[in-house]
Amino acid sequence: MTKHYDLIAIGGGSGGLAATKQAAAHGAHCAVIESDRLGGACVNVGCVPKKVMWNASSIAQTLKDAPDYGFSVIEQGFEWQQLKRERDAYVARLNDIHQNNLNKAKVDSISGFAKFINSNTIEVAGQHYSANHIIIATGGRPLIPKISGTELGITSDGFFGLEQQPEKVAIVGSGYIAVELAGVLNALGTEVDLLLRGNGLLKPFDSLIQETVTQQLSDDGVNIRQQISLAAVTLGKNNSIVLACNDGPELNGYDCLIWAIGRQPNSDQLNIEASGVICDVNGFIPSDEFQNTNQPGIYAIGDVTGRAALTPVAIAAGRHLADRLFAGKEESKLDYTNIPTVLFSHPPAGTVGLTEDQARKKFGNDIAIYQTQFTPMYHAVTQHKTKTAMKLVCSGAEQRIVGCHLVGHGADEMLQGFAVAIKMGATKADFDNTVAIHPTSSEELVTLR
Ligand code: FAD
Ligand code: NDP
Repeated sequence: MTKHYDLIAIGGGSGGLAATKQAAAHGAHCAVIESDRLGGACVNVGCVPKKVMWNASSIAQTLKDAPDYGFSVIEQGFEWQQLKRERDAYVARLNDIHQNNLNKAKVDSISGFAKFINSNTIEVAGQHYSANHIIIATGGRPLIPKISGTELGITSDGFFGLEQQPEKVAIVGSGYIAVELAGVLNALGTEVDLLLRGNGLLKPFDSLIQETVTQQLSDDGVNIRQQISLAAVTLGKNNSIVLACNDGPELNGYDCLIWAIGRQPNSDQLNIEASGVICDVNGFIPSDEFQNTNQPGIYAIGDVTGRAALTPVAIAAGRHLADRLFAGKEESKLDYTNIPTVLFSHPPAGTVGLTEDQARKKFGNDIAIYQTQFTPMYHAVTQHKTKTAMKLVCSGAEQRIVGCHLVGHGADEMLQGFAVAIKMGATKADFDNTVAIHPTSSEELVTLR
Protein backbone atom coordinates (compact mmCIF):
# COMPACT_ATOMS: atom_id res chain seq x y z
CA MET A 1 0.00 0.00 0.00
CA THR A 2 1.24 3.49 -0.83
CA LYS A 3 1.62 5.89 2.09
CA HIS A 4 0.72 9.46 1.19
CA TYR A 5 2.24 12.75 2.48
CA ASP A 6 1.90 16.46 1.81
CA LEU A 7 5.67 16.68 1.46
CA ILE A 8 8.52 14.20 1.13
CA ALA A 9 12.17 15.26 1.14
CA ILE A 10 14.67 12.83 -0.36
CA GLY A 11 17.81 13.36 1.71
CA GLY A 12 18.06 13.93 5.45
CA GLY A 13 20.87 16.47 5.25
CA SER A 14 20.91 20.21 5.84
CA GLY A 15 18.27 21.03 3.23
CA GLY A 16 15.86 18.10 3.61
CA LEU A 17 15.72 18.32 7.41
CA ALA A 18 15.16 22.08 7.41
CA ALA A 19 12.44 21.97 4.76
CA THR A 20 10.40 19.17 6.32
CA LYS A 21 10.58 20.54 9.88
CA GLN A 22 9.50 23.98 8.68
CA ALA A 23 6.67 22.51 6.60
CA ALA A 24 5.53 20.38 9.56
CA ALA A 25 5.48 23.52 11.72
CA HIS A 26 2.98 24.90 9.21
CA GLY A 27 0.82 21.79 9.66
CA ALA A 28 1.98 19.72 6.70
CA HIS A 29 2.24 15.93 6.96
CA CYS A 30 5.90 15.29 6.06
CA ALA A 31 8.50 12.57 5.69
CA VAL A 32 12.22 12.66 5.12
CA ILE A 33 14.02 9.73 3.47
CA GLU A 34 17.67 9.16 4.34
CA SER A 35 19.87 6.28 3.20
CA ASP A 36 22.73 7.02 5.58
CA ARG A 37 23.15 8.91 8.85
CA LEU A 38 20.84 11.86 9.54
CA GLY A 39 22.48 15.26 9.13
CA GLY A 40 24.00 14.71 5.69
CA ALA A 41 27.45 15.81 4.60
CA CYS A 42 27.65 18.77 6.99
CA VAL A 43 27.15 16.80 10.18
CA ASN A 44 28.86 13.55 9.24
CA VAL A 45 31.68 14.28 6.78
CA GLY A 46 31.73 18.05 6.36
CA CYS A 47 31.43 21.27 8.36
CA VAL A 48 31.13 19.70 11.80
CA PRO A 49 33.99 17.16 11.95
CA LYS A 50 36.07 19.57 9.83
CA LYS A 51 35.60 22.37 12.36
CA VAL A 52 36.61 20.03 15.20
CA MET A 53 39.82 19.27 13.29
CA TRP A 54 40.35 22.96 12.58
CA ASN A 55 39.94 23.72 16.28
CA ALA A 56 42.52 21.05 17.09
CA SER A 57 44.99 22.46 14.59
CA SER A 58 44.39 25.99 15.89
CA ILE A 59 45.20 24.75 19.40
CA ALA A 60 48.42 23.22 18.05
CA GLN A 61 49.39 26.65 16.73
CA THR A 62 48.45 28.36 20.00
CA LEU A 63 50.62 25.90 21.92
CA LYS A 64 53.55 26.86 19.72
CA ASP A 65 52.94 30.55 20.46
CA ALA A 66 52.41 30.03 24.18
CA PRO A 67 56.10 30.18 25.25
CA ASP A 68 56.36 33.61 23.61
CA TYR A 69 53.62 34.73 26.00
CA GLY A 70 55.64 33.46 28.95
CA PHE A 71 54.13 30.01 29.37
CA SER A 72 56.33 27.05 30.00
CA VAL A 73 54.69 24.39 27.85
CA ILE A 74 55.81 20.80 27.73
CA GLU A 75 54.15 19.21 24.71
CA GLN A 76 53.70 15.54 25.41
CA GLY A 77 52.30 14.58 22.05
CA PHE A 78 48.98 14.59 20.32
CA GLU A 79 46.56 11.64 20.31
CA TRP A 80 44.85 11.54 16.91
CA GLN A 81 42.79 8.52 17.95
CA GLN A 82 41.48 10.25 21.07
CA LEU A 83 40.45 13.29 19.06
CA LYS A 84 38.75 11.05 16.49
CA ARG A 85 36.88 9.20 19.25
CA GLU A 86 35.64 12.46 20.79
CA ARG A 87 34.74 13.86 17.37
CA ASP A 88 32.86 10.72 16.31
CA ALA A 89 30.97 10.70 19.60
CA TYR A 90 29.95 14.33 19.06
CA VAL A 91 28.75 13.53 15.54
CA ALA A 92 26.79 10.54 16.87
CA ARG A 93 25.12 12.83 19.44
CA LEU A 94 24.16 15.18 16.62
CA ASN A 95 22.68 12.25 14.64
CA ASP A 96 20.49 11.47 17.65
CA ILE A 97 19.55 15.12 18.11
CA HIS A 98 18.40 15.28 14.49
CA GLN A 99 16.29 12.14 14.97
CA ASN A 100 14.74 13.57 18.16
CA ASN A 101 14.03 16.87 16.43
CA LEU A 102 12.23 15.06 13.61
CA ASN A 103 10.19 13.12 16.17
CA LYS A 104 9.30 16.32 18.04
CA ALA A 105 8.31 18.01 14.78
CA LYS A 106 6.19 14.93 13.87
CA VAL A 107 8.12 14.39 10.64
CA ASP A 108 8.29 10.70 9.66
CA SER A 109 11.84 9.49 9.21
CA ILE A 110 12.19 6.79 6.57
CA SER A 111 15.44 4.91 6.44
CA GLY A 112 16.62 3.64 3.05
CA PHE A 113 17.56 4.60 -0.47
CA ALA A 114 14.86 6.40 -2.48
CA LYS A 115 14.11 5.93 -6.15
CA PHE A 116 11.38 7.53 -8.21
CA ILE A 117 8.54 5.38 -9.54
CA ASN A 118 6.81 8.35 -11.19
CA SER A 119 6.51 12.08 -10.63
CA ASN A 120 4.77 11.75 -7.27
CA THR A 121 5.73 8.27 -6.06
CA ILE A 122 8.97 7.04 -4.51
CA GLU A 123 10.09 3.54 -3.61
CA VAL A 124 12.22 2.76 -0.56
CA ALA A 125 13.05 -0.90 0.09
CA GLY A 126 9.97 -2.12 -1.75
CA GLN A 127 7.57 0.28 0.03
CA HIS A 128 5.88 3.03 -2.00
CA TYR A 129 5.41 6.60 -0.75
CA SER A 130 3.59 9.36 -2.59
CA ALA A 131 3.38 13.09 -1.96
CA ASN A 132 1.80 16.25 -3.34
CA HIS A 133 5.25 17.86 -3.15
CA ILE A 134 8.67 16.21 -3.38
CA ILE A 135 11.96 17.93 -2.60
CA ILE A 136 15.18 16.47 -3.96
CA ALA A 137 17.85 17.30 -1.38
CA THR A 138 20.29 14.50 -2.05
CA GLY A 139 23.49 16.57 -1.91
CA GLY A 140 26.69 15.37 -3.52
CA ARG A 141 29.75 13.19 -3.13
CA PRO A 142 33.46 13.66 -3.81
CA LEU A 143 34.78 13.46 -7.37
CA ILE A 144 37.67 11.13 -8.13
CA PRO A 145 39.87 11.58 -11.21
CA LYS A 146 39.84 9.01 -13.99
CA ILE A 147 43.39 7.63 -13.82
CA SER A 148 44.61 4.21 -12.78
CA GLY A 149 45.16 3.53 -9.09
CA THR A 150 42.78 6.18 -7.73
CA GLU A 151 41.49 3.63 -5.18
CA LEU A 152 44.82 4.00 -3.34
CA GLY A 153 43.66 7.46 -2.33
CA ILE A 154 40.84 8.62 -0.11
CA THR A 155 38.49 11.61 -0.26
CA SER A 156 37.36 13.99 2.47
CA ASP A 157 34.92 11.21 3.53
CA GLY A 158 37.90 8.90 4.07
CA PHE A 159 39.84 11.63 5.86
CA PHE A 160 37.25 11.58 8.62
CA GLY A 161 37.67 7.81 8.88
CA LEU A 162 41.46 7.90 9.31
CA GLU A 163 42.49 6.03 12.48
CA GLN A 164 46.11 7.20 12.29
CA GLN A 165 47.55 10.60 11.52
CA PRO A 166 49.37 10.43 8.18
CA GLU A 167 53.08 11.18 8.22
CA LYS A 168 53.30 12.47 4.67
CA VAL A 169 50.22 13.29 2.62
CA ALA A 170 49.57 14.35 -0.97
CA ILE A 171 46.41 16.41 -1.33
CA VAL A 172 45.22 16.86 -4.91
CA GLY A 173 43.04 19.93 -5.50
CA SER A 174 42.97 23.66 -5.03
CA GLY A 175 39.58 24.55 -3.58
CA TYR A 176 37.99 24.76 -0.16
CA ILE A 177 38.58 21.16 0.92
CA ALA A 178 42.17 20.90 -0.35
CA VAL A 179 43.20 24.11 1.42
CA GLU A 180 41.34 23.34 4.66
CA LEU A 181 42.70 19.79 4.98
CA ALA A 182 46.22 20.93 4.04
CA GLY A 183 46.13 23.52 6.82
CA VAL A 184 44.75 21.12 9.42
CA LEU A 185 47.21 18.31 8.69
CA ASN A 186 50.17 20.66 8.42
CA ALA A 187 49.42 22.35 11.76
CA LEU A 188 49.08 18.93 13.41
CA GLY A 189 52.54 17.92 12.15
CA THR A 190 51.94 15.94 8.94
CA GLU A 191 54.20 16.74 5.99
CA VAL A 192 51.87 18.08 3.29
CA ASP A 193 52.29 18.28 -0.48
CA LEU A 194 49.44 20.22 -2.08
CA LEU A 195 49.24 19.29 -5.75
CA LEU A 196 47.60 21.77 -8.13
CA ARG A 197 46.82 21.00 -11.74
CA GLY A 198 47.14 24.72 -12.54
CA ASN A 199 49.04 27.64 -11.09
CA GLY A 200 46.95 28.93 -8.26
CA LEU A 201 44.69 28.12 -5.36
CA LEU A 202 41.13 29.18 -4.67
CA LYS A 203 40.27 30.55 -8.14
CA PRO A 204 36.75 31.77 -7.31
CA PHE A 205 38.05 33.94 -4.43
CA ASP A 206 39.35 37.52 -4.55
CA SER A 207 43.06 37.85 -5.38
CA LEU A 208 43.72 39.19 -1.86
CA ILE A 209 42.53 35.90 -0.36
CA GLN A 210 44.27 33.77 -2.99
CA GLU A 211 47.61 35.48 -2.45
CA THR A 212 47.50 35.78 1.34
CA VAL A 213 46.34 32.19 1.94
CA THR A 214 48.86 30.78 -0.54
CA GLN A 215 51.73 32.72 1.04
CA GLN A 216 50.73 31.65 4.55
CA LEU A 217 50.41 27.97 3.61
CA SER A 218 53.84 28.14 2.08
CA ASP A 219 55.36 30.05 5.04
CA ASP A 220 53.91 27.43 7.36
CA GLY A 221 55.63 24.63 5.46
CA VAL A 222 53.07 23.23 3.02
CA ASN A 223 54.77 22.28 -0.25
CA ILE A 224 52.58 23.78 -2.95
CA ARG A 225 53.40 22.11 -6.26
CA GLN A 226 51.93 23.69 -9.36
CA GLN A 227 51.16 22.29 -12.82
CA ILE A 228 51.02 18.69 -11.63
CA SER A 229 49.37 16.42 -14.17
CA LEU A 230 48.92 13.00 -12.62
CA ALA A 231 49.16 9.91 -14.83
CA ALA A 232 48.77 7.01 -12.39
CA VAL A 233 48.94 6.00 -8.74
CA THR A 234 50.86 2.91 -7.62
CA LEU A 235 52.37 1.42 -4.50
CA GLY A 236 56.12 1.63 -4.01
CA LYS A 237 58.57 0.56 -1.30
CA ASN A 238 56.99 -0.26 2.09
CA ASN A 239 53.56 0.24 0.55
CA SER A 240 54.13 3.97 0.18
CA ILE A 241 52.10 5.77 -2.46
CA VAL A 242 53.79 6.79 -5.70
CA LEU A 243 52.34 9.36 -8.10
CA ALA A 244 53.45 9.15 -11.72
CA CYS A 245 53.19 12.50 -13.50
CA ASN A 246 52.70 13.19 -17.21
CA ASP A 247 55.47 15.78 -17.29
CA GLY A 248 58.15 15.63 -14.66
CA PRO A 249 59.46 13.17 -12.12
CA GLU A 250 57.30 10.91 -9.96
CA LEU A 251 56.24 12.03 -6.50
CA ASN A 252 56.59 9.43 -3.77
CA GLY A 253 56.88 8.51 -0.12
CA TYR A 254 53.29 9.23 0.87
CA ASP A 255 51.33 7.20 3.40
CA CYS A 256 48.14 9.02 2.45
CA LEU A 257 46.67 10.51 -0.73
CA ILE A 258 43.56 12.70 -0.62
CA TRP A 259 41.47 13.62 -3.66
CA ALA A 260 39.90 17.05 -3.17
CA ILE A 261 38.96 18.04 -6.70
CA GLY A 262 35.30 18.95 -6.26
CA ARG A 263 32.00 17.17 -5.75
CA GLN A 264 29.36 15.64 -8.00
CA PRO A 265 25.60 15.66 -7.43
CA ASN A 266 23.70 12.63 -6.10
CA SER A 267 21.17 12.53 -8.92
CA ASP A 268 22.36 9.50 -10.90
CA GLN A 269 20.87 6.71 -8.76
CA LEU A 270 17.42 8.18 -8.18
CA ASN A 271 15.82 6.73 -11.32
CA ILE A 272 15.20 10.38 -11.98
CA GLU A 273 13.95 9.76 -15.54
CA ALA A 274 10.76 8.31 -14.03
CA SER A 275 10.08 11.63 -12.30
CA GLY A 276 10.34 13.70 -15.47
CA VAL A 277 13.00 15.92 -13.84
CA ILE A 278 15.79 16.97 -16.20
CA CYS A 279 19.41 17.23 -15.00
CA ASP A 280 22.15 19.29 -16.63
CA VAL A 281 25.18 17.70 -18.32
CA ASN A 282 27.00 17.36 -15.00
CA GLY A 283 24.01 15.79 -13.24
CA PHE A 284 23.04 18.91 -11.25
CA ILE A 285 19.31 19.54 -11.02
CA PRO A 286 18.54 23.04 -12.25
CA SER A 287 15.97 24.85 -10.14
CA ASP A 288 14.57 28.35 -10.58
CA GLU A 289 14.59 31.14 -8.01
CA PHE A 290 11.71 29.39 -6.17
CA GLN A 291 13.58 26.02 -6.22
CA ASN A 292 11.11 24.61 -8.83
CA THR A 293 12.51 21.99 -11.19
CA ASN A 294 11.08 21.57 -14.69
CA GLN A 295 8.55 19.09 -13.22
CA PRO A 296 5.59 20.66 -11.33
CA GLY A 297 5.48 19.49 -7.71
CA ILE A 298 9.17 18.52 -7.62
CA TYR A 299 11.76 20.91 -6.19
CA ALA A 300 15.53 20.78 -5.73
CA ILE A 301 17.54 22.44 -2.96
CA GLY A 302 21.10 22.43 -1.70
CA ASP A 303 24.22 20.94 -3.25
CA VAL A 304 22.33 18.87 -5.82
CA THR A 305 21.37 22.13 -7.58
CA GLY A 306 25.03 23.11 -8.08
CA ARG A 307 24.52 26.56 -6.57
CA ALA A 308 26.46 27.85 -3.54
CA ALA A 309 27.21 24.48 -1.91
CA LEU A 310 26.99 25.65 1.69
CA THR A 311 24.94 24.36 4.61
CA PRO A 312 23.16 27.62 5.49
CA VAL A 313 22.17 28.00 1.83
CA ALA A 314 20.53 24.55 1.74
CA ILE A 315 18.77 25.28 5.04
CA ALA A 316 17.53 28.72 3.99
CA ALA A 317 16.35 27.48 0.58
CA GLY A 318 14.44 24.64 2.27
CA ARG A 319 12.76 26.91 4.81
CA HIS A 320 11.73 29.47 2.18
CA LEU A 321 10.28 26.70 0.05
CA ALA A 322 8.30 25.29 2.98
CA ASP A 323 6.96 28.80 3.74
CA ARG A 324 5.91 29.20 0.12
CA LEU A 325 4.22 25.80 -0.15
CA PHE A 326 2.56 25.58 3.27
CA ALA A 327 2.33 29.07 4.82
CA GLY A 328 0.83 30.95 1.89
CA LYS A 329 3.97 33.07 1.42
CA GLU A 330 3.87 32.95 -2.36
CA GLU A 331 6.93 35.13 -2.90
CA SER A 332 9.11 33.39 -0.33
CA LYS A 333 12.50 32.57 -1.85
CA LEU A 334 16.17 32.71 -0.98
CA ASP A 335 18.11 35.69 -2.26
CA TYR A 336 21.33 34.13 -3.57
CA THR A 337 23.23 37.42 -3.67
CA ASN A 338 25.73 38.42 -0.98
CA ILE A 339 26.10 34.98 0.56
CA PRO A 340 28.94 35.14 3.08
CA THR A 341 31.30 32.19 3.31
CA VAL A 342 34.38 31.33 5.34
CA LEU A 343 37.33 29.18 4.37
CA PHE A 344 38.76 27.53 7.47
CA SER A 345 42.39 28.03 6.59
CA HIS A 346 45.08 29.13 9.08
CA PRO A 347 44.24 31.92 9.64
CA PRO A 348 40.69 31.77 8.26
CA ALA A 349 39.44 33.75 5.27
CA GLY A 350 35.97 35.20 4.77
CA THR A 351 34.28 36.67 1.78
CA VAL A 352 30.96 38.24 0.83
CA GLY A 353 29.83 39.86 -2.40
CA LEU A 354 31.82 40.53 -5.54
CA THR A 355 35.55 40.00 -5.97
CA GLU A 356 37.48 42.98 -7.35
CA ASP A 357 37.60 41.29 -10.78
CA GLN A 358 33.87 40.60 -10.78
CA ALA A 359 33.14 44.20 -9.75
CA ARG A 360 35.35 45.54 -12.55
CA LYS A 361 33.49 43.37 -15.06
CA LYS A 362 30.14 44.57 -13.74
CA PHE A 363 30.83 48.27 -13.04
CA GLY A 364 33.88 49.03 -15.19
CA ASN A 365 36.06 51.72 -13.63
CA ASP A 366 33.25 52.96 -11.43
CA ILE A 367 34.63 51.12 -8.42
CA ALA A 368 36.91 52.02 -5.54
CA ILE A 369 39.15 49.57 -3.69
CA TYR A 370 40.24 50.01 -0.09
CA GLN A 371 42.65 47.50 1.31
CA THR A 372 45.17 46.92 4.05
CA GLN A 373 47.58 44.29 5.26
CA PHE A 374 49.14 44.14 8.70
CA THR A 375 50.45 41.84 11.40
CA PRO A 376 47.74 41.52 14.05
CA MET A 377 48.54 42.49 17.61
CA TYR A 378 48.31 38.85 18.73
CA HIS A 379 51.68 38.38 17.04
CA ALA A 380 53.32 41.37 18.76
CA VAL A 381 55.28 38.98 20.95
CA THR A 382 55.23 35.74 18.96
CA GLN A 383 57.93 34.45 16.65
CA HIS A 384 55.48 32.72 14.33
CA LYS A 385 53.58 35.43 12.45
CA THR A 386 50.54 35.46 10.25
CA LYS A 387 49.19 38.34 8.22
CA THR A 388 45.77 39.93 8.31
CA ALA A 389 44.53 41.33 4.99
CA MET A 390 41.29 43.16 4.22
CA LYS A 391 39.69 44.54 1.10
CA LEU A 392 36.50 46.49 0.51
CA VAL A 393 35.18 46.78 -3.03
CA CYS A 394 32.88 49.80 -3.47
CA SER A 395 30.79 50.89 -6.43
CA GLY A 396 29.26 54.15 -7.70
CA ALA A 397 29.33 57.69 -6.42
CA GLU A 398 27.74 56.63 -3.12
CA GLN A 399 30.50 54.00 -2.68
CA ARG A 400 28.13 51.14 -1.90
CA ILE A 401 30.11 48.20 -0.57
CA VAL A 402 29.70 45.35 -3.02
CA GLY A 403 32.49 43.08 -1.79
CA CYS A 404 34.35 42.41 1.45
CA HIS A 405 37.31 40.03 1.63
CA LEU A 406 39.17 39.17 4.80
CA VAL A 407 42.01 36.89 5.88
CA GLY A 408 43.29 36.81 9.43
CA HIS A 409 42.75 35.78 13.02
CA GLY A 410 39.05 36.11 13.78
CA ALA A 411 37.98 36.67 10.18
CA ASP A 412 35.57 33.74 10.51
CA GLU A 413 33.64 35.37 13.34
CA MET A 414 34.15 38.91 12.02
CA LEU A 415 32.42 38.47 8.69
CA GLN A 416 28.86 37.67 9.77
CA GLY A 417 28.09 41.14 11.16
CA PHE A 418 29.69 42.92 8.24
CA ALA A 419 27.67 40.68 5.90
CA VAL A 420 24.45 41.98 7.50
CA ALA A 421 25.55 45.58 6.89
CA ILE A 422 26.49 44.83 3.28
CA LYS A 423 23.21 42.98 2.67
CA MET A 424 21.42 46.09 3.96
CA GLY A 425 23.26 48.22 1.40
CA ALA A 426 25.95 49.80 3.57
CA THR A 427 28.23 52.39 1.99
CA LYS A 428 31.84 53.22 2.76
CA ALA A 429 30.55 56.30 4.63
CA ASP A 430 28.39 54.05 6.86
CA PHE A 431 31.49 52.04 7.74
CA ASP A 432 33.51 55.22 8.35
CA ASN A 433 30.75 56.64 10.57
CA THR A 434 30.83 53.59 12.82
CA VAL A 435 33.05 54.03 15.87
CA ALA A 436 35.86 51.49 15.90
CA ILE A 437 36.35 48.87 18.61
CA HIS A 438 39.91 49.03 19.88
CA PRO A 439 42.19 47.09 19.94
CA THR A 440 40.83 44.60 17.43
CA SER A 441 41.57 43.67 13.85
CA SER A 442 38.02 44.41 12.73
CA GLU A 443 38.43 48.10 13.59
CA GLU A 444 40.61 48.37 10.49
CA LEU A 445 37.53 47.74 8.35
CA VAL A 446 35.85 50.93 9.59
CA THR A 447 39.00 53.05 9.31
CA LEU A 448 40.21 52.14 5.81
CA ARG A 449 41.69 55.07 3.85
P1 FAD B 1 23.64 16.85 2.23
O1 FAD B 1 23.84 17.51 3.53
O2 FAD B 1 24.82 16.22 1.60
O3 FAD B 1 22.48 15.79 2.41
C1 FAD B 1 22.10 14.93 1.39
C2 FAD B 1 21.64 13.63 2.02
O4 FAD B 1 20.91 12.90 1.04
C3 FAD B 1 22.78 12.74 2.46
O5 FAD B 1 22.66 12.44 3.84
C4 FAD B 1 22.63 11.48 1.60
O6 FAD B 1 22.96 10.29 2.31
C5 FAD B 1 21.16 11.52 1.25
N1 FAD B 1 20.80 10.83 0.01
C6 FAD B 1 21.38 10.96 -1.20
N2 FAD B 1 20.71 10.22 -2.11
C7 FAD B 1 19.70 9.62 -1.45
C8 FAD B 1 18.65 8.73 -1.84
N3 FAD B 1 18.48 8.38 -3.12
N4 FAD B 1 17.80 8.30 -0.89
C9 FAD B 1 17.91 8.68 0.41
N5 FAD B 1 18.87 9.52 0.83
C10 FAD B 1 19.75 9.98 -0.09
N6 FAD B 1 29.42 24.12 4.23
C11 FAD B 1 29.45 25.19 5.06
O7 FAD B 1 28.52 26.01 5.02
N7 FAD B 1 30.48 25.39 5.93
C12 FAD B 1 31.52 24.52 6.03
O8 FAD B 1 32.42 24.73 6.84
C13 FAD B 1 31.52 23.39 5.18
N8 FAD B 1 32.51 22.48 5.24
C14 FAD B 1 32.47 21.37 4.45
C15 FAD B 1 33.52 20.46 4.54
C16 FAD B 1 33.50 19.32 3.75
C17 FAD B 1 34.64 18.35 3.86
C18 FAD B 1 32.42 19.09 2.86
C19 FAD B 1 32.37 17.85 2.02
C20 FAD B 1 31.39 19.99 2.76
C21 FAD B 1 31.40 21.15 3.55
N9 FAD B 1 30.39 22.10 3.47
C22 FAD B 1 30.43 23.22 4.28
C23 FAD B 1 29.28 21.95 2.51
C24 FAD B 1 28.02 21.40 3.21
O9 FAD B 1 28.33 20.20 3.87
C25 FAD B 1 26.94 21.16 2.16
O10 FAD B 1 26.73 22.34 1.41
C26 FAD B 1 25.61 20.75 2.78
O11 FAD B 1 25.74 19.58 3.53
C27 FAD B 1 24.56 20.54 1.68
O12 FAD B 1 23.34 20.12 2.21
P2 FAD B 1 22.33 19.25 1.31
O13 FAD B 1 21.10 19.12 2.12
O14 FAD B 1 22.23 19.83 -0.04
O15 FAD B 1 23.07 17.86 1.15
P1 NDP C 1 35.96 23.21 -4.97
O1 NDP C 1 35.04 23.41 -6.08
O2 NDP C 1 36.04 24.25 -3.91
O3 NDP C 1 37.46 23.01 -5.50
C1 NDP C 1 37.83 21.96 -6.30
C2 NDP C 1 38.98 22.43 -7.16
O4 NDP C 1 39.75 21.31 -7.55
C3 NDP C 1 38.53 23.06 -8.44
O5 NDP C 1 38.25 24.41 -8.24
C4 NDP C 1 39.71 22.83 -9.38
O6 NDP C 1 40.59 23.95 -9.30
C5 NDP C 1 40.39 21.60 -8.79
N1 NDP C 1 40.26 20.45 -9.67
C6 NDP C 1 39.16 20.05 -10.37
N2 NDP C 1 39.43 18.93 -11.06
C7 NDP C 1 40.72 18.62 -10.80
C8 NDP C 1 41.58 17.58 -11.22
N3 NDP C 1 41.15 16.63 -12.05
N4 NDP C 1 42.85 17.57 -10.75
C9 NDP C 1 43.29 18.53 -9.91
N5 NDP C 1 42.52 19.54 -9.49
C10 NDP C 1 41.25 19.59 -9.92
O7 NDP C 1 35.58 21.78 -4.38
P2 NDP C 1 35.82 21.12 -2.97
O8 NDP C 1 35.69 19.67 -3.22
O9 NDP C 1 37.04 21.65 -2.34
O10 NDP C 1 34.56 21.61 -2.15
C11 NDP C 1 33.25 21.41 -2.67
C12 NDP C 1 32.32 22.48 -2.17
O11 NDP C 1 31.97 22.23 -0.80
C13 NDP C 1 32.94 23.87 -2.15
O12 NDP C 1 32.85 24.50 -3.40
C14 NDP C 1 32.11 24.57 -1.09
O13 NDP C 1 30.94 25.08 -1.66
C15 NDP C 1 31.79 23.44 -0.12
N6 NDP C 1 32.70 23.52 1.01
C16 NDP C 1 32.59 24.59 1.84
C17 NDP C 1 33.46 24.76 2.88
C18 NDP C 1 33.31 25.95 3.76
O14 NDP C 1 32.27 26.59 3.73
N7 NDP C 1 34.30 26.28 4.57
C19 NDP C 1 34.52 23.80 3.16
C20 NDP C 1 34.53 22.68 2.23
C21 NDP C 1 33.66 22.57 1.20
P3 NDP C 1 41.39 24.50 -10.58
O15 NDP C 1 40.39 24.68 -11.65
O16 NDP C 1 41.99 25.76 -10.07
O17 NDP C 1 42.42 23.46 -10.90
